[in-house]
Amino acid sequence: MSSDRIIGIDLGTTNSCVAIMEVGKPVIIENFEGARTTPSVVAFTRAGERLVGQVGKRQAVTNPARTIQSIKREMGTNYRVTIDGASHSPEQISAMILQKLKADTEAYLGEKISRAVITVPAYFNDSQRQATRDAGQIAGLDVLRIINEPTASALAYGLNRLDEHATVLIFDLGGGTFDVSILEITDGVFEVKATSGNNRLGGDDFDQSIIDWMVSEFNASTGIDLSDDLMAIQRLKETAEKTKIELSTAMSSEIHLPFLTADDGGPKHLETVLSRTKFNELTAHLVEATLDPLRQALDDAGLHNDKIDHIILVGGSTRIPAVQDTIRRYFGKEPSKSVNPDEAVALGAAIQASILAGDVQDVLLLDVIPLSLGIETAGGLFTRVIERNTTIPTSGTMPFTTTEDGQTSVEVHVLQGEREIAAHNKSLAKFHLAGIPAAPRGVPKIEVTFDIDADGIVHCSARDYGSGIKHSVTIQRSTGLSPEEVEVFQKEAAEFADADKVLREQITNRVHAEALCAEAERTVQKYGERVEKSFVDKVMRALDLVKEALASDNPDEIKQLSAGLDVSLLDLGRAIHSGNRSVQPKKKTVEDSQPIELGESGQQAKGSNKETANFD
Ligand code: AMP
Repeated sequence: MSSDRIIGIDLGTTNSCVAIMEVGKPVIIENFEGARTTPSVVAFTRAGERLVGQVGKRQAVTNPARTIQSIKREMGTNYRVTIDGASHSPEQISAMILQKLKADTEAYLGEKISRAVITVPAYFNDSQRQATRDAGQIAGLDVLRIINEPTASALAYGLNRLDEHATVLIFDLGGGTFDVSILEITDGVFEVKATSGNNRLGGDDFDQSIIDWMVSEFNASTGIDLSDDLMAIQRLKETAEKTKIELSTAMSSEIHLPFLTADDGGPKHLETVLSRTKFNELTAHLVEATLDPLRQALDDAGLHNDKIDHIILVGGSTRIPAVQDTIRRYFGKEPSKSVNPDEAVALGAAIQASILAGDVQDVLLLDVIPLSLGIETAGGLFTRVIERNTTIPTSGTMPFTTTEDGQTSVEVHVLQGEREIAAHNKSLAKFHLAGIPAAPRGVPKIEVTFDIDADGIVHCSARDYGSGIKHSVTIQRSTGLSPEEVEVFQKEAAEFADADKVLREQITNRVHAEALCAEAERTVQKYGERVEKSFVDKVMRALDLVKEALASDNPDEIKQLSAGLDVSLLDLGRAIHSGNRSVQPKKKTVEDSQPIELGESGQQAKGSNKETANFD
């Protein structure tokens, strides 16, 4: 049976994170590998396995063509990943990440979870929000609410300051997106005043600047262009991120990439140094690009920058010194360090989950729509029906009419964005309203209504006012998945959940086997002299077999042989404790040995999770 607890999920471009409320406080849930965040990476092995999270990220260098990263950037688009002839939508890939988060949470809590609040960048449009909701559904989660990441961060920041009155600015620069939101917090009411951002600006772009620089350095010294060498680029990508992170604390970072490629003259290496000054120069345009949304948000909120009481930094990329310097210069004050930039969003999502469950009552969240909504009108113009930064939920109705005499059907093209020309905005849906009684142009009155729910998701309807008949409309989402597709993917995901369980069990067995080997070696070394040699020999034989099975990565043998090692180790232990060199090994079954195994080696297995998670 599912628990009635609701989890908060930060489904990030680079990393994802899960939190839950425990006794009135949000806490982060560690994943299966023991980490507090999970890389948003999905990889497919040639053997047909799916590796999600750290295991997927680790093998990215050797398996770049089958490793998918930063899929969040493609949410709500028609982008597809094709591997082994199977095409996967961004929703499906995101669902795979969500499935892992769900399974890890269930393992951690020891109960089934079926409900979640998922965060999205404030600047996500309707298609991207719907895609996120679909991903949750595919993963078997009832997505109770989609909330904006900066708003979630503000909740995490403000939960302990409910009696304060403050204007806060959330500056959220993650792996792939940049969001700015301004909120007023008064007596537990969190009111978003304005939100702005850039869906395609984040840490990945800083990495790319370093990759481009490395490619040109390499080209200059060897004459070789690495741009199309997938494996080399993946190594550059990994190094670029490490270098960038190092430059957040160090003034320079050494780059050693041996055997990057080879030509007739032999192997070619990249050995160079990137200084922080050079890095700042390479990425100045990216830091500069954060200023426009910042100004926009302040403008929309009608505030001067000296009216901001606290600046909250969220997202890993806010650790870049040049980013912090820019904020300091812009506001003339230090940004607040009171929330953890990697965890604030998930913590806030858990708080929102608790608000929905009715467990937190003294908090009210008033969010806004990030982009204006409207329709295409004569001449391809965009006519706004609901302006951006309107508090949600909200609705708006506008009358339209026909352009031709005797016209009996109209197409209403719904768009979202700030541009005046319809084609420059994001197309959300097309409504066909048929059966309008024939009349001269301009006479029929067709009312189009937009309803925006608390998730920021848009619902549309149309009505022919004159005939008094409510006509049904057909909504064709211009991108994304149909409900039927979601259902098919849901089924597929559930099937894969079984395969994932098998994989999880294999990893667990491997972790256990490795811990058992270490324990056997320690015991023999420490006490081997004290007992009859046959006990030690038996352990050593069993140990060798387990090590062989580990080396050949045979899951069945690992499980079977570690049970054998367990039994011999128990016999050895018994001989040690009895102090009797002649004690006879007791015949034991695998079942007999299991309760003991859970005691000590279970703990060790947990400690060794990080290394053994490398198993693929
Ligand atoms: P998030 O989406 O919030 O998990 O942020 C991930 C991004 O933050 C990635 O691009 C990381 O490379 C970047 N990041 C994490 N730690 C640091 C750091 N210390 N310095 C610079 N960038 C970082």
